[in-house]
Amino acid sequence: MSSILGFPRVGQNRELKKALESFWSGKSTQSDLESVSKALCEKHWAEQKDLDFVCVNDFSLYDNVLDLAYSLNAKPKRFRDLSGLEGYFAMARGHKSGVACEMTKWFNTNYHYVVPELSEDDNYKADINNIKAYYNEAKTLGYRPKISLIGLFTFFGLSKITNGNGATIFNKLKAAYLELIKEIAKLDSKVAIEFSEPLFVRGLNKDIFSGIDIESEVLSVYNAIAERGIQAIVSTFFEHSNELTKILVKSKIAGLGLDFIYGEKNKESLDLIAQSDKILYAGVVDGRNIWVADIESKLKLLESISSIVPKDRIVVSASCSLLHLPFSKEGESKIEKEILSWLSFAREKITELCAIEKAYKGSLDSATQSFLEQNKAINQSRKNSSKTHNTAIRQRVESYSIKERSLPFKERIKIQKEALNFPLLPTTTIGSFPQTSEIRALRLGYKKGEINKTEYEKGIKAYIKDCVEFQDSIGLDVLVHGEPERNDMVEYFGEQLSGFVFSTNAWVQSYGSRCVKPPIIYGDVERPKAMTVEWITYAQSLTQKVMKGMLTGPVTILNWSFVRDDLSRKEVCEQLALCIADEIDDLQKAGIKVIQVDEAAFKEGYPLRAENIKDYESWALSCFKTSVAIADPKTQIHTHMCYSEFNDIIKTIEALDADVISIETARSGNELLKVFKQVGYTNEVGPGVYDIHSPRIPSVEELVAQIKALLEVLPKEQLWINPDCGLKTRKWEEVKPSLQNIVEAVKQVRG
Ligand code: GLN
Ligand code: ZN
Repeated sequence: MSSILGFPRVGQNRELKKALESFWSGKSTQSDLESVSKALCEKHWAEQKDLDFVCVNDFSLYDNVLDLAYSLNAKPKRFRDLSGLEGYFAMARGHKSGVACEMTKWFNTNYHYVVPELSEDDNYKADINNIKAYYNEAKTLGYRPKISLIGLFTFFGLSKITNGNGATIFNKLKAAYLELIKEIAKLDSKVAIEFSEPLFVRGLNKDIFSGIDIESEVLSVYNAIAERGIQAIVSTFFEHSNELTKILVKSKIAGLGLDFIYGEKNKESLDLIAQSDKILYAGVVDGRNIWVADIESKLKLLESISSIVPKDRIVVSASCSLLHLPFSKEGESKIEKEILSWLSFAREKITELCAIEKAYKGSLDSATQSFLEQNKAINQSRKNSSKTHNTAIRQRVESYSIKERSLPFKERIKIQKEALNFPLLPTTTIGSFPQTSEIRALRLGYKKGEINKTEYEKGIKAYIKDCVEFQDSIGLDVLVHGEPERNDMVEYFGEQLSGFVFSTNAWVQSYGSRCVKPPIIYGDVERPKAMTVEWITYAQSLTQKVMKGMLTGPVTILNWSFVRDDLSRKEVCEQLALCIADEIDDLQKAGIKVIQVDEAAFKEGYPLRAENIKDYESWALSCFKTSVAIADPKTQIHTHMCYSEFNDIIKTIEALDADVISIETARSGNELLKVFKQVGYTNEVGPGVYDIHSPRIPSVEELVAQIKALLEVLPKEQLWINPDCGLKTRKWEEVKPSLQNIVEAVKQVRG
């Protein structure tokens, strides 16, 4: 048997996205949406027909954490009177009766879940209708369904307690969850449920499971579930979960799913599993990266596992839900054939799993035999290809020695202050200006070949000119070109670097109907020529003010791409760092005096387990530093990070040693800034003074108040004034008055 934990839901051609957006805009009805969903489920089950089960309830109209919250009637007070899809989408997207629930990253993936809000006065009760419908549909079609369900502990741990005592809420929630299980148990004899408990990879963290005795609760809940006659499989993924495995082997569940790709240390639990009676769902195929499996090495891994756990208790499995993968390689005609052969998306992963299983259990047929031979050849080609290995790049990374700025900040800043001569509280923005439909159409037309290069450049230049003139007219101090040539801050750079490919249809759900198409890093990375210099120098030529060059940092490029798995992330990042260093050097040689290196995704790369953080911090930090070290002391390096929780990482932020860092503080007043003060941060800081995520235009008075609040924390010599992120999602009607008000507010405060 081979198994997966879930299949991507948006559909091969993002059918779900289209159906949702059409429904939300009132162009189609609920029953239209339901028939699209039904068709998608059927199609996805057909893809899984050769597996032990087909997953049901992994599909969702928005998010599966939200689904569970809704099934348990865990609705925030403001939406309590709403029901059906109206109430469901209200929690996800907001409603006139209240703002949406927060959304946050699902562990270290780029998938976002809706954060449930729990309160002591909630009235939890179980609603099995959706699950029942999926289950029965799959059965009617002749499949063997396995229900995917978020485990109670992960659900509770990821929720936000808005009011009341954690332990009390947990007990109420537990009762409703077990009620749901009781209803599910009635669907069939021995219903299979896969309980996803990724929070278990965080260990027995007291803060997460506030106020509950995790060990005894895990046993009691999962025993209760097993006693209901459920065939329960508890899965963890993205890391090892040895602390919890110790507990789970003592329970009455049928099986355990462990990730042997990102949680190699799970091997330490094999003895315990062998001594128990549990089935091991061995996650040996990477469920979240897109590389073809090296089946020979997978078989070796499985053999090493079954040297401890008997083979007949092992199910070959993907390491996590395939949700984080694109649907299939079918139709990717733009990717070079050889490179395409190295890729494996959700559909292809299932084929691999089935083949591995047959080889492992010794039931090879001739089709599988030839698949294995093909797989071997593909892996050989990848291993030996000059496309993945470039000796010159490797040697350069090895011998590159410029890893620190030539002078310490204290001395650099003196030189910079003299050379740049900015006023106190200099004003700037984060880089992008509104991406209008004309600009999008221009880029798209150029990409499709409908617009020629001259016309395209003319359009981009006109936009840049407008941006520069506007900024000049309102009196900002450091200007930007507005980024009209960029579709995405990572893709733009990836497209100009060697070692990257881009798919046409490899979409992955980010949240709700939103999908992203991450760049794919398959080989050694190098910058064949300057990437931004022409646009930036053009922008600089239009103004007397300083034009800020705008780059994406190496760590962010890495964290927002599908990264090759035949080289460490650290080494890939080092290659990226040199590309950025080369660009910085070209920019400064072209007369650009201030350069911003965005690290929007620096924090996202943090490992899930505390013991691995040091290592990540050390190489990520050193890559960022390498990328900017080439800057002359008088070249001012800015960086930008778009989040507001720095407490845990402030020491690393400090060590980045950027001359100026702009951060997202607008939503937290000056609270966040205090940690900069506490650690004695000396470099300059631009705490966002207004929240660009909302269309609201901040008034001069409120900006003055905000700036004064900042001045209470940090000295005026250290502060910059700017919005809290890029403006590309906003409209000009919002951006113009907002920035005007910033400049006016700063004028008043300076006065
Ligand atoms: N320079 C980028 C922009 O302004 C930064 C985006 C980001 O922080 N996510 O769009
Ligand atoms: Zn940002």
